[in-house]
Amino acid sequence: MHKIDTKTWTVDKNVDELHPAIVEAAERLKQGEVIAFPTETVYGLGANALETAAVKKIFAAKGRPSDNPLIVHIASTQQLSLLIDEELSEKSKRLIEEFWPGPLTIIFKRKEGISELVTAGLVTVAVRMPDHPVALSILKAANLPIAAPSANRSGKPSPTTADHVKQDLDGLIDGIVDGGSTGIGIESTVIDMTGIIPTILRPGGITLEQLQQVLGQVTLDPAIQHQQEKPRSPGMKYTHYAPLGEMWIVQGEEHRRIEQMKQLIEKQIKLGKKVGILTIEEHKDYFPLADSIIAYGSKDNLYPMAEQLYQALRTFDIQGVDFILTESVDESGIGLAIMNRLRKAAGHKIIDVDNL
Ligand code: AMP
Ligand code: MG
Repeated sequence: MHKIDTKTWTVDKNVDELHPAIVEAAERLKQGEVIAFPTETVYGLGANALETAAVKKIFAAKGRPSDNPLIVHIASTQQLSLLIDEELSEKSKRLIEEFWPGPLTIIFKRKEGISELVTAGLVTVAVRMPDHPVALSILKAANLPIAAPSANRSGKPSPTTADHVKQDLDGLIDGIVDGGSTGIGIESTVIDMTGIIPTILRPGGITLEQLQQVLGQVTLDPAIQHQQEKPRSPGMKYTHYAPLGEMWIVQGEEHRRIEQMKQLIEKQIKLGKKVGILTIEEHKDYFPLADSIIAYGSKDNLYPMAEQLYQALRTFDIQGVDFILTESVDESGIGLAIMNRLRKAAGHKIIDVDNL
């Protein structure tokens, strides 16, 4: 692909829409360019959602399959009328009130006029309002709905810093607004509100429990916990977040799990492999033989693990780790999203010590 000059603007996390860097980035988006910027989840790669030629550049830069639709980002609920072809239901209104701006993407019936590429030909569109001053300022300055998937090459871990974006997309996109590292570290929750019962298609920053409190009954798409041929969120079927090394999840009763991990580490080291461990802080001293141990968060608070997960996978790549073992975490709260991403990163390679 033809290399382009990728401009970087470094801004304070709390900029407003009048900052010259924001004005310039927004102007370039209006002209059909593709620009990466931070959100509270991960860095997004933005383009004008109403212009097919601009959106095409996102797919080209990422190497993203064209049947994987994009999330459209907005700065105000007024912009919804450009995108959706329905009166907001009471439940959707409550979601918006409670969680926007924030890491919740809502699937609505789409309106004509949005680029078909954005929705990958579906009759629905995914929309969210990000909770990050840099993202919101760019959206306000551009005054356009901006389609923005994660700003990584397709298949790689999502970027949580501007450096990660550069590692993947330097020379392939028009610009990067560097506003420091993102907060939550994993992507938004995607909820489909077009059916009778709200359905989570992808777990993320807003938990199932939070959604149940507002909506009552909420179902989980089976693809979240098990590998499926045809998930309802097209993106869920692709390899994603994958590190270069072979990765396995060890799950089941804690003591047996740790014993199993120790045995596997020994075996792999004998085979001459460089072994990396991703675990929680309580367990970081259990694996002295491993070459690299990355530990974040604890049983009581898994948010730091979410925040550092993609960075950890990229670190293993940089260290040349060729065998990665990670422990399962409890799938309540943010744990559901963490396990979903770990399963995908591991290509669903799981050892269940309770079923050996
Ligand atoms: P990313 O932007 O890389 O975080 O990925 C966006 C996610 O939202 C992917 O898993 C998409 O498949 C999903 N998505 C986007 N639009 C829709 C839609 N209309 N229906 C279902 N899932 C969608
Ligand atoms: Mg992505």
